[in-house]
Amino acid sequence: MNPQQIQDVLDRVLLTVDKPGRYVGGEYNSVVKDWDAVPFRVALAFPDLYDLGMSNLGIMLLYHQINSQPDLLAERTFSPWDDMEAVMREREMPLFSLETKHAIAEFDLLGISVPYEQLYTNVLNLIDLAGLPLHRTERDERHPFIIAGGHSCYNPEPLADFIDAFVIGEGEEIVVEVARVLKDLRGATRAQQLSAVAAIQGMYVPAFYDVAYHDDGTVAAITPNHPAAPERVLKRIVTVLPQPFTQFIVPNIDTVHNRAPIEIMRGCTRGCRFCHAGMITRPVRERPVAEVMEAIESIVEHTGFEEISLLSLSSSDYVYVDELTDAIYAKYKGSGISLSLPSLRIESTSADLLDKIGDTRRSGFTFAPEAATERMRNKINKYVPDEQVLQTARDVYSRGWRTIKFYFMIGHPDETLEDVQAIIDLCKAVLHEGRKILGGKANVNVGVSTFIPKPHTPFQWVPQDSTEQVIAKQRLLKDQIRGAGLHLRWNDVRSSEFEGWLSRGDRRLGAVIYRAWQKGARFDAWMDHHDHSAWLSAFEEVGLDTEFYTRRQRGLDEIFAWDHIDVAVHKKFLREDYLMSLNGETRVDCRDRCFACGILPKFKEARSQTEKMAWECPPVQPIRERQQERVANVTLIDLPN
Ligand code: SF4
Repeated sequence: MNPQQIQDVLDRVLLTVDKPGRYVGGEYNSVVKDWDAVPFRVALAFPDLYDLGMSNLGIMLLYHQINSQPDLLAERTFSPWDDMEAVMREREMPLFSLETKHAIAEFDLLGISVPYEQLYTNVLNLIDLAGLPLHRTERDERHPFIIAGGHSCYNPEPLADFIDAFVIGEGEEIVVEVARVLKDLRGATRAQQLSAVAAIQGMYVPAFYDVAYHDDGTVAAITPNHPAAPERVLKRIVTVLPQPFTQFIVPNIDTVHNRAPIEIMRGCTRGCRFCHAGMITRPVRERPVAEVMEAIESIVEHTGFEEISLLSLSSSDYVYVDELTDAIYAKYKGSGISLSLPSLRIESTSADLLDKIGDTRRSGFTFAPEAATERMRNKINKYVPDEQVLQTARDVYSRGWRTIKFYFMIGHPDETLEDVQAIIDLCKAVLHEGRKILGGKANVNVGVSTFIPKPHTPFQWVPQDSTEQVIAKQRLLKDQIRGAGLHLRWNDVRSSEFEGWLSRGDRRLGAVIYRAWQKGARFDAWMDHHDHSAWLSAFEEVGLDTEFYTRRQRGLDEIFAWDHIDVAVHKKFLREDYLMSLNGETRVDCRDRCFACGILPKFKEARSQTEKMAWECPPVQPIRERQQERVANVTLIDLPN
């Protein structure tokens, strides 16, 4: 179908589907280039609904990077919801781009963002709806070259059967390099394209690696089978964070985050042992205050967004956080512009920071201690003493906030029911503090997620809690975290199991994902859509055991399915950290002391003189005295009128 035919079908069916705004494009700030004048075309796909994908910063950064190049164009596509998919299949209408309604099969490159594992069946469904063969071995140079990237691709093996090449690391620079290499190879064979792409640092071509297994199912070897394939694929980083993107597309419909994000810092040095993002996004790179302030101004001017979120993994560790909030306060006080400063750590957030970012909406704020006993805090290397939590609560309630939200995690290695009971006791103690200050108006919302061991972390060796263990712990929480002022939310045990299967999966899971997709599995991130039994029977039919992936203690010398993916943090460092956790030993923030995790030697040479200033290991120390004062996490800055 050509764009006009696709548009004609859309005109006939849009009013029959939910939220037609998902499929029309034409938004303010969307970029529509002259299709015939631009030599190379990239389709950027987010394998979930428009409502979610439009809030994904990664896709927007790549859209901007590519469309800033005169010889390249990028257009967006998202997963159609069930109703639209049914219409498309019935009318044989292929997946199309929002900007010019071209069929995705007409693009030269299809780039799919895959931040989390629950999107895997949607990745297959996108490729199928585009009318392309699912397995990379069935595609050739007549089909768009398909790449994928995002945090879940640091273990690319479960999707290795379907994707031609993976972006390992940060995509801003590499996506343009891949497009240019393929543009210059127009007319070449797929094999020639794969070789050229494999030669780009940070690109992983699964076809060029053979995986062998021991009889017990563990990986025996991962061997390059092509001269262009390095022994290990070193992740790609941008040494200096590119200029912030500010001309955000203003969505046609409400999205999950109706606000514009600015990344103030990338990476984290705290070293929490369960944290995937903290390990794979090193080194820390911080954005100068002037750049952030210019970006806020540009966003307000070019998008009309009234809410801007200042993103990082640990914003109170951002060395310029005081300077930035002072500047924002001075410039935007009374302007009605609200800014969120998520993921503040209690250890490094001061009372004056809290005052500066006061929140008129008083909607509450979030705090993530994760564990509630000294023993578990040491094990996970996230040490927040109870008294600090209680002091935070007092400081927050005394500033008029009525609701504190806590994030805890159950299922950490060696966790006991006593450790879970401590979560309950701590939440009740906080509510008690709130009641002393606000009476019955104080609330504590408690979110309890289930720990899932992730690749490239110190906990990649540990077994995940069994379903029975999780249910027992959740029952204890549900029985006691209830009543006035106490509200509990928890993860569906099936979603944790499912994510656990895929997180540390190997290449054999490709067959399971394919079978599950054939059985209709889609939108697995939505629990009302996730079909657990389809997955279980897919595992059975393929002859793989789910427990092998989740419940098994890994040997210290075991080869992992992702060991050929080099995140620049040494496996030796991770193993050492894991062994320290067994003894309850902690590590300080590596801003205080470098533990030679491996980042520096891998990227030191890559830095030019200027870039030396942009990131240093260990990173610059934040203002110390802030450490002394223990105050709360805050989500929203709404400058008082
Ligand atoms: S090289 Fe040192 S300072 Fe840098 S991230 Fe690793 S442990 Fe931290």
